[in-house]
Formats: sequence, structure tokens, C-alpha cells
Amino acid sequence: EAKAKGRNTYCFYQAEMTVKAQQRLSAERDLRRAIEQKEFEVWYQPQIDLSSQRFLGAEALIRWRDPLRGLIPPLEFIPLAEQNGMILPIGEFVLHQVCADFKEWQAAQLNAKRLSVNVAGPQFYRSDIVATIKDCLSEYQIPAGMLEIEVTETFMMENPQEIKDILLAIQELGVTIAIDDFGTGYSSLAYLRELPIDTLKIDRAFIRDIPSNNKGIAIVRAILALGSSMGFNVVAEGVETQEQSDFLQAEGCRKGQGYYFAKPMPKAEFTRWLQNHEG
Ligand code: C2E
Ligand code: MG
Ligand code: MG
Ligand code: MG
Repeated sequence: EAKAKGRNTYCFYQAEMTVKAQQRLSAERDLRRAIEQKEFEVWYQPQIDLSSQRFLGAEALIRWRDPLRGLIPPLEFIPLAEQNGMILPIGEFVLHQVCADFKEWQAAQLNAKRLSVNVAGPQFYRSDIVATIKDCLSEYQIPAGMLEIEVTETFMMENPQEIKDILLAIQELGVTIAIDDFGTGYSSLAYLRELPIDTLKIDRAFIRDIPSNNKGIAIVRAILALGSSMGFNVVAEGVETQEQSDFLQAEGCRKGQGYYFAKPMPKAEFTRWLQNHEG
């Protein structure tokens, strides 16, 4: 009896695995087609100077326009793409698109200032990210200072020795480096000092908490103090209300990004946005 039960459990487990494996295979097939058919778009979300409300630059955020399912957000396909290596062609596409878009705006006398691109772990250890960035900048003949890359705190702090030289080489090109989702991983102060970091992006989980939650306030203050004493730029992510913006400004945070200022926009809409926010 015990044996039969064991076998049933085993069969059930097998069947479930098969369904999961099939779902994964079909998701991978869709993603491969998306790459071949160029179904990705780059959207842009402005970053704003909190005191002057001036436009400082924008973060590039990928979207997948599936012909059947419509617009698919990055969290629904980037994790899989990171696992199976498809993030490499996807990441290259984003970098090229961002540089091409910047060039186009430049030609139209629009100043996109600085564009930030999210770079995933595998792009560091499974491709030559320095060469990719360098080639992109020279292909489009644009200044390196227009580009910032965002690397998550989690990935950076899990691989500090491995990526230090790569980050240095990127910074050497004139490209700046931001730690994304700051505060959600475990940063070592030693690595914060050793790694070439220009910008800390405070994760929106902490911004959501202010100004009503005392612990959230304490964390935001601590990050701002750290940023100013170590000479980092600090950008608050996920600013959704005027109250949050005012509070951040009063605490000495100079830069913000979030729905309160503008949501991520498709290229054409962001182009109009640039036309209306000159200077
Ligand atoms: P992230 O880099 O931290 O990007 C910020 C995310 O917060 C974006 O989500 C943005 O739409 C969202 N956001 C901005 N302001 C607000 C706000 O006020 N409230 C709320 N609730 N959310 C806000 P999105 O575009 O869905 O991207 C999610 C994540 O996907 C990104 O987080 C990033 O980790 C990843 N991602 C996006 N594009 C790329 C890419 O080109 N390459 C890679 N490797 N990852 C990407
Ligand atoms: Mg980011
Ligand atoms: Mg972030
Ligand atoms: Mg994130």
C-alpha cells in the first residue's frame, strides 16, 4: 500500500513537472520569436530636480508588445530571459535603441540630457558589456556622459570583486553608474567605498512609506546621509505624491522619479514631453 501511494505521489509530481516544463518551453519559444520579430519597445520615464522641477534625464524601461497578448511588463519576461541567456540580445537591443533615440532627439534639437539603462547580471559575466557600450557610443557618435547604467544592489553586492574592474572600465568611458533598488539588498560599506558608484536610487518600497511611517523616514534619512557623505547622487524612485516630493526635498534629496512627475512613456509621447520641457 505504502509503495502504491509512493508511486502515485511520484506520478503526480512528474505530471506537474511536465506542465511546468511545457509552460517554460512555450514561454521561451514566445520570447525567442519576440527577439527575432523585434517586438520590444523602449519607454522612458523622466527624472526631475525636486527643487526646480527641471528635467534631468530619463530611465529607459523595456516593454514587450506581444501581437496576441498586448503590452507585457518587464517583470513578466526579464527573469526568464536572465535565466536562459536571452537577456544578452535583449540587453543589446535596449542599449542600441537608447543611443539611437538620443541621437534622433539630438538631431531634432531636443536635449534628453542623460538616459539610464538597466543592465542585468548575465550581461556582465556572459558578454563583453564594456565593448558593447563602447561600440554603441561610437556607432551613434554621442557623448558618453549621456549614458548611465543601473545595476541592482543585490547583483552588485553579490559579485563585487568580479564586476569591480568592469565597472571601472565603464566609468573610464565616461558613463556613470547607479545602484538600483538601493536599500533592498545588503550593502557592505567597504564595497560602497571601493566600487565606482555615482548614483544611489532609493528603492520605491521606502518612498511608499513616507511621510507617515517613522521607520521608512529613518531609512530614507540614513540613505540620504550616506549619499551626501560619500558624494553620491541620490535619486528617489517611485515618488507618487506631492507630499512625498516635498518631504524628500526638505530632507535634502535633490532628484526624483515617479508617477507624481510622469509615468514611463512610449518614445513618441516622451518626444512630445521633451518638446514641452525644454531647458
Ligand atoms: P527598476 O529599474 O527599478 O524600474 C523602476 C520601475 O518602477 C519601473 O517598472 C517603473 O515603471 C516603476 N515606477 C516608476 N515610478 C513609479 C511610481 O511612482 N509608482 C510605482 N508603483 N511604480 C513606479 P517597470 O517598467 O515595470 O520595470 C520593472 C523592472 O524591470 C525594472 O525595475 C528593472 O529592474 C526591470 N527592467 C526594466 N527594463 C529593463 C531593461 O531594459 N533591462 C533589464 N535588465 N531590466 C529591465
Ligand atoms: Mg532601474
Ligand atoms: Mg529601481
Ligand atoms: Mg526594480
